[in-house]
Amino acid sequence: MTETMPNWLKKRADLSPDREALIFEGHTFTFKQVFEKAQTYAGKLGVLGLQKGVAVAVLFSNQAESAFILYALQMAGIRAVILNNRLTSEELSWQLDDSQADVLLYETRFNDKVAAIHSDTKNVSIHELKELEGIHPRILEEYDMDEVTTIMYTSGTTGNPKGVMQTYGNHWWSANASALNLGLHVQDKWLCTVPIFHISGYSILMRSQIYGMPIILHSSFEEKKVSDDIRRYEITIMSVVSTMLRRIIDELGSDRLPESFRCMLLGGGPAPLPLLQSCLEKDIPVFQTYGMTETSSQFATLSPEYSIERLGSAGKALFSNQIRIVDEDSQDVPPGAEGEIIVKGPNVTVGYLNRADETADKIRERWLYTGDIGYVDGDGFLYVLDRRSDLIISGGENVYPAEIEGVLLSHPGVADAGVIGMPDEQWGQVPVAFTVKNAFGVSEEELLKLCEQKLAKYKLPKKFYFVDSLPRNAAKKLLRRKLREWLDAERDENGN
Ligand code: ATP
Ligand code: MG
Repeated sequence: MTETMPNWLKKRADLSPDREALIFEGHTFTFKQVFEKAQTYAGKLGVLGLQKGVAVAVLFSNQAESAFILYALQMAGIRAVILNNRLTSEELSWQLDDSQADVLLYETRFNDKVAAIHSDTKNVSIHELKELEGIHPRILEEYDMDEVTTIMYTSGTTGNPKGVMQTYGNHWWSANASALNLGLHVQDKWLCTVPIFHISGYSILMRSQIYGMPIILHSSFEEKKVSDDIRRYEITIMSVVSTMLRRIIDELGSDRLPESFRCMLLGGGPAPLPLLQSCLEKDIPVFQTYGMTETSSQFATLSPEYSIERLGSAGKALFSNQIRIVDEDSQDVPPGAEGEIIVKGPNVTVGYLNRADETADKIRERWLYTGDIGYVDGDGFLYVLDRRSDLIISGGENVYPAEIEGVLLSHPGVADAGVIGMPDEQWGQVPVAFTVKNAFGVSEEELLKLCEQKLAKYKLPKKFYFVDSLPRNAAKKLLRRKLREWLDAERDENGN
């Protein structure tokens, strides 16, 4: 592996200064302009005494300025602890303490949140930063591929979030693996409506400077604006999670996306099969991906030509990556058999911040144990089933909540669904469903009937709870552990 590389943004500004880099709310910035903006910010960061090696936490939304500052931090060699702006002040305080960041840079729109944070971090608003008279910026001429450039916390779906250390090399390889798979077209433009504080959005910034490709950045996801901008800017690629895709499909109605649009990169969680089927009907080129904060974005991807015959698969490991499926003794299982997904590749994190034990437990001989269960079919295609911690074992059969949730969600009267296991004397565990109705409404009988049509008997939920909302974290991921707590409390109350 190359040990060092020239500063990416500087190199890009040298290679293609006048090419479009970033389009935000009607303003277009070329790579030269983005580099200059970032360089100016690097000078201001220097005034705060921030330099190579220190850690700076950032609380940003999707704005052009946020992108400039993220680039500035990277160019200055300052580790960016990139915080999720949907977290509560309590959660933010925890991550600030955990990361031991020296300074918190924040956007003024988060004033109230920041005021309620209790942590030793020095807080500086972007407004204050902008006002500073900068000094001559000290930016890195070279990037050391093994140095950490970003720290991102996992979503905290299965437990406490963990700070994932991502190196320059991790981002470099992630961007390259993606390009080797999707190809690089000179007319490519990537629409970013996913948060840049997540690896899904941040990785688009990395690809932009490495590929020399424009990003159209949206401050939030609005399906109307998405469909307008895809036409207006001739966008070719977009990253989405399944709820966004569902809304885009509804927005399109009987319309189609233009032919120039070549890739809907779908990730972040399980994709309900009915959603993938709708995309097929509408000729939306969906690339289903599997990845996580620890793999610095996509790790495996399925191309649309396999969408039908491998429906629901997350494809194959990208060029520089490997996947194995193993049993509890870390032994490979045969094709088709289920086990834990373990992954290896140059985009896999070097470890969790300040968590040597957890790192040693999860990364063994450079293989990361993902905690996800899946299988690889006879031709090497990966199918992700669910989290190991959410697996339901009923009468010796494995039941995956995500599969049942997918069926429930396909009912037009269901707005949201969550499934967990409940202790059962006869079967060990049985699935129970939590459902949120929408305006159309749905009854227990209808849901049961639908499940009976689609699922084997042992997968049928034994109870249906109708609730107003489901517990989700700041990444909007379902917190099944909270549902389990709720069910335990309910069963205690009823003396079960
Ligand atoms: P934590 O690690 O704190 O519990 P998290 O795993 O939800 O949080 P992320 O790194 O944001 O944090 O999410 C990665 C996870 O998302 C994967 O490990 C996997 O469980 C899920 N996921 C990603 N892509 C897919 C997919 N295609 N199908 C099913 N699940 C997926
Ligand atoms: Mg995880």
